[in-house]
Amino acid sequence: MVEGVETGTARFRTRFVVQVILPVAALALAIALFAFVGARTSARQSDQESIARQAREVELAVSATLDELAQSQTGVAIWDPVVLELRKSRPDRGWIDQNVGTWLNYVFDHDADFILDARDTPVYAMIDGIGADPARYHRLAESFLPMVRAVRGRSSRKANPHERLPGQALAPGSSVRTSASTFHATDLATVGGRPAAVSVMRIVPDSSAVPATPGHEPLLVSIRYLDADLMRELSQIRLIARARVTDAPAAPQSLDLSIPLISTRGVHLGFFTWRPELPGSTVLRSTAPVAAAAFISVLALLALLVFGIARLMRKDLRSLALLQAAHVELKAKEAQAHHLAYHDALTDLPNRAFFHNAVDQALGQQRPGSACAVMLLDLDRFKKVNDTLGHLGGDLLIQVVAGRVQACLREGDLVARIGGDEFAILIPAHGSSDATAGTAEAILKALREPFEILGTQVFIGVSIGIAIHPDCADDRADLLRKADIAMYRAKAEGRDAYRFFNAGMDESLIVRRSLEQDLRTALDTGEGLSVCYQPQMDGTGSKVTGLEALMRWRHPKRGELSPDAFIPIAEEAGLIDQLGRWVLEQACGVARCWPDLSIAVNVSPLQFRKPGCAEAIRQIVHAAGVDPAQIELEITEGILLDEDETVRDALVHLRRMGFRIALDDFGTGYSSLSYLRKFEVDKIKIDRSFVKRLGHDLEAAAIIQAVVTLGHAMALSVTAEGVETEEQGQMLRLAGCNELQGFLFSEAVPQAAIRQLVDRKRTSLAA
Ligand code: C2E
Ligand code: CA
Ligand code: CA
Repeated sequence: MVEGVETGTARFRTRFVVQVILPVAALALAIALFAFVGARTSARQSDQESIARQAREVELAVSATLDELAQSQTGVAIWDPVVLELRKSRPDRGWIDQNVGTWLNYVFDHDADFILDARDTPVYAMIDGIGADPARYHRLAESFLPMVRAVRGRSSRKANPHERLPGQALAPGSSVRTSASTFHATDLATVGGRPAAVSVMRIVPDSSAVPATPGHEPLLVSIRYLDADLMRELSQIRLIARARVTDAPAAPQSLDLSIPLISTRGVHLGFFTWRPELPGSTVLRSTAPVAAAAFISVLALLALLVFGIARLMRKDLRSLALLQAAHVELKAKEAQAHHLAYHDALTDLPNRAFFHNAVDQALGQQRPGSACAVMLLDLDRFKKVNDTLGHLGGDLLIQVVAGRVQACLREGDLVARIGGDEFAILIPAHGSSDATAGTAEAILKALREPFEILGTQVFIGVSIGIAIHPDCADDRADLLRKADIAMYRAKAEGRDAYRFFNAGMDESLIVRRSLEQDLRTALDTGEGLSVCYQPQMDGTGSKVTGLEALMRWRHPKRGELSPDAFIPIAEEAGLIDQLGRWVLEQACGVARCWPDLSIAVNVSPLQFRKPGCAEAIRQIVHAAGVDPAQIELEITEGILLDEDETVRDALVHLRRMGFRIALDDFGTGYSSLSYLRKFEVDKIKIDRSFVKRLGHDLEAAAIIQAVVTLGHAMALSVTAEGVETEEQGQMLRLAGCNELQGFLFSEAVPQAAIRQLVDRKRTSLAA
């Protein structure tokens, strides 16, 4: 049972893992992945947007630097005093420093400012806030000479959004902050190897008071390097972190980003590099621990949930498994109980209840025209085995008998043990009486064979009664009752036989039951019972030598009954012992009255089988004061067939005490003289059926002659019974019979009539 629970648990475990844990884990993983990818994507997107925004800022910053540079120039380039000062043959350098160079450097952080005259010759230079030799202009000018030409209107180059060029409209999307009074070219350029914002502007008067000199104006060249200073400004004002200009772009794995610095004329100046602000990554990075913690908590919660479910389910499963196991056990017990209820524990054959069911079923399924048979078996002499070998021997015998009976049956037949030594057979398909009789005969033969039980050879036999449905009975109870009647008939008619039930039996059985009751009453009250005596004559038939005591019963309603009718009933009802004693007592009374006559008393085999029988007989005879030698005990052949020590011992014992033993009804049973050697008897009584045949068939005479000869050879006295005619008497005398008995001499008479018999002189049988 526990094993079942365990395999159930194992099966549950795998099923639980597959059906609950795996899906939940997959779900948790999917959610985590989804959340992570989502967060990453949105962080990336926000980062990308931020980068784009910053790049735009940088562009705007550069563009603003250019526009601011040009705007810062206008303060001095569109101003009458400067124009006038420069028109002097010897301009005041100090004034120019103060109002142009130092001003632009100090206020607007210009790194260098040059002034060119009408012929583009540098006339003034201020570098890093210090007045310098104007000739230094040539060393730096190379990259922005095209701008100078453009401002002069000597170039076809198109204006960029930061410029105002002569003869050109403002570029689309122009961001110039200067007034239309002057022209300027403004762009990025490499100055002395350094990227820089450069603006070249015509210096023009701001009022009409000073006449203009179009095409011949002096030029202001301002330079602002895109260097640390500018970058610091960018960082602070535009919040671009760690902004700087580099020759090479930032390494891809670094945290910095670069965008190329290209002049509006497509000149590559280097890279603008900065540490971009990545708000997505920042948010991701800052929220990652919280998200991880949340995810772990969810996982833990899920795990707890799953665990809880598992525990609940396992508990349920265990209870279920226990319940199933209990159910299975219950079923097994039920089946066992059912088997026990319907089987015999000793032979494992079906029992009476099973048999009854089977018969009911067979009767229910009977088709018109078909028949089924029921056999009842009662073992002969089983009680004796039980008495001598004990219950163990009896049990073993029953088991072997069960096996032998089963071996005699055909398929479909059913044998059950319905009592101690009773078996019942159902033949559902009873074809013909011959076939069923064949089965019965096979059983008889099988059980006639000796049994080896506990080292002892045992002989038993069986009496079988057979009833057929629907010939004999309609229902089960009636069918079984009739098989029982037939079985008793087989028993009564000498055992070791089978009988089919016939209507006559039924009636006799009913009669039998009531007779049994009446006999009991008669024995108790002594009313109706009596003993008559039939004389036994000497061989000549002239002299009474003895008397045979024969029981008589005058039934209150049925009148005089033959012992042949009531002795078997007494035997069956267990009354024979009591009856036998009573007859013996009566006979002893007669024996005392007629000391010269031997008194013969019939003793039933059943009396002999009872232990202590010899002693009981001795006591009765002794109590009556009769010499045992005067008493002759008549036994039948059947008793000698009992390989029973009890019977043999009793006979030997009785003979030793002086009783004489006569073998009654000789020739009707096994007719074997060999028995006579085993059981010493004193006399044999040739059965009246042989005597009756005398004069009709020669064989009877020959048999009688042989018996007489053999008996004499064995020193036995030979009596002939049932002598009814003179002729028979004559033949028997001639055959050598020692005594004769029969109606020829007298029927059995009441005790009171004995004297008359003895005294009556009879002529002896003619010699
Ligand atoms: P059984 O011992 O063979 O007794 C002889 C039977 O033959 C008696 O029948 C007797 O009346 C009958 N008989 C005698 N002469 C003739 C004759 O010439 N012709 C014919 N046809 N019959 C004759 P009964 O008295 O009816 O007894 C029948 C059987 O009953 C006896 O047969 C005996 O076996 C049994 N029996 C009678 N009395 C007792 C008894 O007290 N105890 C026991 N155990 N059995 C008894
Ligand atoms: Ca007799
Ligand atoms: Ca007889």
